[in-house]
Amino acid sequence: MATINSNFLKLKAGYLFPEIGRRVKAFTDANPDKAAKIIRCGIGDVTEPLPASVRAAMHEAIDEMGVRETFKGYGPEQGYEFLRQAIVDNQFSDLGISADEVFISDGSKCDTGNILDIFGEGNVIAITDPVYPVYVDTNVMAGNTGEADDKGAYAGLVYLPCTAENGFVAELPKEKVDLVYLCFPNNPTGSVATREQLEAWVKYAKENDTVIFYDAAYEAFIQDPSVPRSIFEIEGAKDVAIEFRSFSKNGGFTGVRCAYVVIPKTVTGKAADGSRVPLHQLWSRRHSTKFNGASYPVQKGAAAVFSEQGEAEVKALIEHYMGNAKLLVEACKSAGLPVFGGENAPYVWVGCPAGSTSWDMFDKMLNEAQVVITPGSGFGSAGEGWFRISAFNSRANVEEVCKRLKAVLA
Ligand SMILES: *Cc1c(COP(=O)(O)O)cnc(C)c1O
Repeated sequence: MATINSNFLKLKAGYLFPEIGRRVKAFTDANPDKAAKIIRCGIGDVTEPLPASVRAAMHEAIDEMGVRETFKGYGPEQGYEFLRQAIVDNQFSDLGISADEVFISDGSKCDTGNILDIFGEGNVIAITDPVYPVYVDTNVMAGNTGEADDKGAYAGLVYLPCTAENGFVAELPKEKVDLVYLCFPNNPTGSVATREQLEAWVKYAKENDTVIFYDAAYEAFIQDPSVPRSIFEIEGAKDVAIEFRSFSKNGGFTGVRCAYVVIPKTVTGKAADGSRVPLHQLWSRRHSTKFNGASYPVQKGAAAVFSEQGEAEVKALIEHYMGNAKLLVEACKSAGLPVFGGENAPYVWVGCPAGSTSWDMFDKMLNEAQVVITPGSGFGSAGEGWFRISAFNSRANVEEVCKRLKAVLA
């Protein structure tokens, strides 16, 4: 009989979004007349159409595929040079990153999960709480944790609480950890780390021989020029960090699929015999064995994000979403609730009225305002008492949400 990876049985069966779906369905079944009124500000997915420059580049690439002379079969596993070079020139100029340190993929969700393939057993792994659930669940699947307790916290992981007191930026671990996941601008809290805070993380990583996984999926939403856009802006980071980037949230690629990992050749891990091995070498091997390259039209579309027209279009998309975030922040503040995020990220992180849990607030917003939010406790126990509103929406929907929010909380 085939045995299974029993680690999967430790997973808390995708609690958050299925539970949201269940409650929304129960509401619409009971109130069919109100179903059409529902506005979803829950899932972090973009809503605005793909930029014209991206579509034109993809159309052109498809046409090339239709002609023998320009047809393309398998591309380089690591990604086409034209895209890797465009990424380095546009996103990492002056940071000393070379095109062969960039690995193109079909998404950061897969990258942040797959990266565990190249790490050994017994690492002490730190994650922030609240957190993007992918980091936790992929560690559970890989056997890096014990069982979950009744609050959903897994034995063996080091949880770094993010609270109003620390501005939702985790403090350095008290103990020595081998791997840590950082995400700035943060999903779900919308927080950003200052240069000083990132310098402290890099110093910690150097002193403790830690590898930092830096998820910068929301880099394009940073408005404050003093906030670092890449971990590699911090001196020494190229020895301890790898960075995940995606075209999903800036270029609207959630349905197109393109992302990349930057692994400087100077970041290493320890082999069983004590020698240091570059992570770049291992990921290169892993990527070319288990991945056959992102689609050519998709990579052409991604490169168009860096064209003059593409940059202008992305800027307009970001301005649209950040304009939404501003309205949501104002509405929540005027309702007297504590608000974080929304200034350098498309997520607004809001404190529940005194005495309400995250799910109480979810039910109240659904039942009384027909607005779907995301309960903070679904991202980790430190998220209890908070909820997330996504700014990914049309302006009309956001204006309506603000109106209903104020009415319900008045
Ligand atoms: C949306 C998101 C990503 C991007 O995921 P893709 O698979 O590239 O669409 C990565 N990290 C976080 C925290 C996200 O919210």
